[in-house]
Amino acid sequence: TSWHKNVRSSAHIRRPNGISVLVTGAAGFIGSHVSLALKNRGDGVVGVDNFDNYYGRSLKQTRRDLLGLNGVYIVDGDINDRRLLSVLFNTVEFTHVMHLAAQVGVQYAVENPYAYVRGNIASLVTLLEQCKSADPQPAVVWASSGSVYGAQNKVPFSETDRVDPPTTLYASTKKTGEEITHTYNRLHGLSITGLRFFTVYGPWGRPDMAYFSFIKNILQGKPITVYRAKNQVDLARDFIYIDDIVKGCVASLDTSGKSTGSGGLKNGSAPYRIFNLGNGSPVTVPALVTILEENLKMKVTKDVVDMCGDGDDSFAYVNISLAERELGYKPTTDLQTGLGEFVKWYLWYYGNPLVQNRSV
Ligand code: NAD
Repeated sequence: TSWHKNVRSSAHIRRPNGISVLVTGAAGFIGSHVSLALKNRGDGVVGVDNFDNYYGRSLKQTRRDLLGLNGVYIVDGDINDRRLLSVLFNTVEFTHVMHLAAQVGVQYAVENPYAYVRGNIASLVTLLEQCKSADPQPAVVWASSGSVYGAQNKVPFSETDRVDPPTTLYASTKKTGEEITHTYNRLHGLSITGLRFFTVYGPWGRPDMAYFSFIKNILQGKPITVYRAKNQVDLARDFIYIDDIVKGCVASLDTSGKSTGSGGLKNGSAPYRIFNLGNGSPVTVPALVTILEENLKMKVTKDVVDMCGDGDDSFAYVNISLAERELGYKPTTDLQTGLGEFVKWYLWYYGNPLVQNRSV
């Protein structure tokens, strides 16, 4: 079929710089930015995405079209499909796999628990099995999540902290993913880098995330709901701009070392690494809303609601010194600038309803 040709030409099998990357979840928020950055610096990039309907397909299709214009081909397929993976790996000798596909979201798990088992656990095993049998084996960089820290009181979170039980099924599938990847590292010598992303935001972002829905309400003059912890403390999060995350992903890939093949347990030379990728400082949700209001020059009514449930992960931020030391990771975009970029993109992409109303 024609996609074989597209995959081959997209990856150019032998790249001048020797790097060919399979990006899973390439039509997603982070995956599309990472794919473009890798392509722009000359890597061979092949994307795969199943265009799931979790937050709708149109944004994903537009990201795919834009990537296509930039020479990145995305295969419309599911990484649970063993045959598809085997064809991809037989078509291109991947030096790296950047695994960003996942069933994301937290609330969705209440009604759809098996989507997380399939999307974050079964698919991970399928992908790792493929990587294990590839020759040479690619180095794997994959997205874990800051949510694996659970409801810990000790902030900032460090990679060496013992992690408390997860407060969501999403988080427990990511934590399980860390165990599974570690096992493949030990048993099969796969080079593994797990990235614990915190709250990533920016242009082409995810409509299911709070900052995204806030802007919609602000523009429509509707109130927004701001959650507050049971102890009346404002929720705080570690918000990190997409361009900084992309730099962290690329640096992870470049420092990921080589897989050593089966017997990794004995020679122990394939690296297993985990990094926090966040901003390193907490910002409360009301402070974030204020920045959005300033950017839009509009005010919004906030309905403050106390959170229910026992999981109290209300105040979460992260220590990034390990990534600074080992990856040269250094976030450079502050929240004012990053949200400004997001607002500009939003108004460009969706149009400003106020301006549209005026012109009617
Ligand atoms: P996203 O939903 O925009 O991207 C994920 C993509 O994976 C989607 O396009 C989806 O269609 C695709 N996908 C899902 N299941 C698939 C499957 N079985 N086969 C092929 N494609 C599949 O989410 P994102 O925010 O870009 O997240 C990327 C990764 O980073 C995820 O692993 C997510 O868990 C992790 N993460 C994100 C954040 C954040 O703040 N955005 C925070 C922590 C961790």
